[in-house]
Amino acid sequence: MKETNMMKPEIPLSILALFFVLAISWTAPVQAKEIPKTKILMLTESKGFTHGSVRRNDGKLATAEVAMIQLGQKTGLFDVDCTQNSAADFTKENLEKYDIVMFYTTGELPIAPEDRDYFINDWLKQKGHGFIGFHSAADTYRTNDPKKNEEFRWYWDMCGGTFNGHPWGAGTTVTMTVHDPEHPVMQPFGKVFVHQDEIYQYVNWQPEKVRVLMSLDMANCKPSKPYHVPVAWVKSWGDGKVYFNNLGHRDETWTNAAFLKSVENAVKWMRGGLEGSTEPNPEVSAAEEEKAKAAAKE
Ligand SMILES: [Zn+2]
Repeated sequence: MKETNMMKPEIPLSILALFFVLAISWTAPVQAKEIPKTKILMLTESKGFTHGSVRRNDGKLATAEVAMIQLGQKTGLFDVDCTQNSAADFTKENLEKYDIVMFYTTGELPIAPEDRDYFINDWLKQKGHGFIGFHSAADTYRTNDPKKNEEFRWYWDMCGGTFNGHPWGAGTTVTMTVHDPEHPVMQPFGKVFVHQDEIYQYVNWQPEKVRVLMSLDMANCKPSKPYHVPVAWVKSWGDGKVYFNNLGHRDETWTNAAFLKSVENAVKWMRGGLEGSTEPNPEVSAAEEEKAKAAAKE
């Protein structure tokens, strides 16, 4: 039989065009520009409570550390160096080797004042640099009055708020509203994300400085509290970027596909490969506050 006699399926051009359009619209938002390989420093030092997902047992790397190393390898996007020693590794000299830092920390870290000043006034303000805070990163340098605490103030200002308890314990399944589902760091979560994890509430929240991307949907959470509880947000810091995500208490979160994809996209976004706004949206915090008040009354 000759090759030329083989049947060729006739596909109408209109259908092909439709597939083409669907393929474009499906892939476009996650199609990153080429970016050079990213170097990440991940700090999981616990000077307060030590989470199981950052505990190194028998000298082996912790769950969260392994998850980030493997994500970098799988995507080919980044290399991660892990440390639990900020005094030795969170230094000006060492930071110069990195593009992004990740914190999953607690307590008052022994970062030297000159290294802190370099990080916050210079390093993080550089284009292509970023800070990613996971879960208890908000329970780091904690103070109830950051404006009066000069030593801790920078950290609160960078993060946007401070840990203030977790009415939703690790066994709770919560429903979260995604406010900006087109943002690359939110796209993997869809418009509504239901997930089991420990959820923090915050004091000294700065809605005028952050772009809140995900919040608890109080109408569908137990307990239902009469105030806004943000879960994830972004902000600019000079030409650098900040991404904070409350999730990550449970080991299971570190294998959750949406969570991992969000981190992958955050790296691309911080490095200039994906577009996403950091414009503050205080109106979202205000609207969520009203919604939560109404939900808690019912
Ligand atoms: Zn926790």
